[in-house]
Amino acid sequence: MTTMKKPATSPGVLEPVPGILDIEPYVGGRAAAPGAQRVFKLSSNESPLGPSPKALEAYRAAAGQLANYPEGSSRLLREAIARVHGLDAERIICGNGSDELLHLITQVYCRPGDEVLYSEHAFLVYRIAALAASAVPVVAPEPRRIVDIDAMIARMGPRTRIVFLANPNNPTGSYLKKGEVKRLLDALPGHALLVIDAAYAEYVDEGDYESGLGLASANPQVIFTRTFSKIYALAGLRAGWLYAAPEIVGHLNRARGPFNVSVPAQAAAAAAVEDRAHVAQSKAHNDKWLSWLTHEIRALGFQVDDSVCNFLLIHFGHEAGKTADDADRFLMARGLILRGVRNYGLPDALRLTVGTEEANRLVVAALADFVKARP
Ligand SMILES: *Cc1c(COP(=O)(O)O)cnc(C)c1O
Repeated sequence: MTTMKKPATSPGVLEPVPGILDIEPYVGGRAAAPGAQRVFKLSSNESPLGPSPKALEAYRAAAGQLANYPEGSSRLLREAIARVHGLDAERIICGNGSDELLHLITQVYCRPGDEVLYSEHAFLVYRIAALAASAVPVVAPEPRRIVDIDAMIARMGPRTRIVFLANPNNPTGSYLKKGEVKRLLDALPGHALLVIDAAYAEYVDEGDYESGLGLASANPQVIFTRTFSKIYALAGLRAGWLYAAPEIVGHLNRARGPFNVSVPAQAAAAAAVEDRAHVAQSKAHNDKWLSWLTHEIRALGFQVDDSVCNFLLIHFGHEAGKTADDADRFLMARGLILRGVRNYGLPDALRLTVGTEEANRLVVAALADFVKARP
């Protein structure tokens, strides 16, 4: 964790509620590489193929309706999601990105001092959402960059209110098998919710993986979230959704902003989810280049974790001139922007998003030169 001094509030300025000043503001993946002629943004797990042409068409068509408020429940989008995934549309809530939904869940269920549990290298938004709700973040250690279910269970207690699990997880790229998630759920106290964030579910083929849909369908203590920001390539639009028991949906909808998903976001996301051919194409691109990148970068001598997502974690050494920061500067000078993950507790690694063929080949060539370069 980065250590940031808690800022003091000036005289006359109102103090925010407990937790707010403990939040280190979220910093997204960098987008600029000063001095480089061409830039390849491989820092935020965005899709290199871009959105479905049908989504873009729907987005443009929505321009004619901007004077009117959106339909507040995102009905057409919920129905499209329900059709594609075989779900009950009444149990879906759409959000302005899944981030909004993660915040909504903590806001609705956490009382001040309640505990929010997650794993050491989990997505940073869980900590932010917990602190923003004046809840107490509880972190389970993760020795091998795979969520340790026993460590999570050991930290569940009478104050546990929400357990966040990204499956698969960002930035590690690792996933939990169905049986492991079930074990976590079996140990969940009756006064707690398990939130399964499956932002990368579409990329996973492993037969022992379950995105959480089945668990959320059958168990009122499970909420499952998905996003249009990753395989659907609509990160700039902001759309995500959750699936939960009807009563939970009723609680969350009471606190949700009444028009939280914009007209263009509802229209484009609905077109995107129905375009299964485009999703399959994006998946095939990722399958091919994820395994190529993993193989090539390992062949250069780097440790690369197994990933089931659209990114991978590359580990660097401590030798002067060969650290993750050195590699980051070296790649940046060539316009290759990766993501440093120090604030995820991984100071010796960089996260690389699978890019276009051109970007992927440039990264491997640059890392080969970095290996050869004298410090
Ligand atoms: C990218 C990502 C999301 C998506 O967030 P949005 O707000 O929907 O863009 C959610 N969870 C994880 C773990 C992610 O990496």
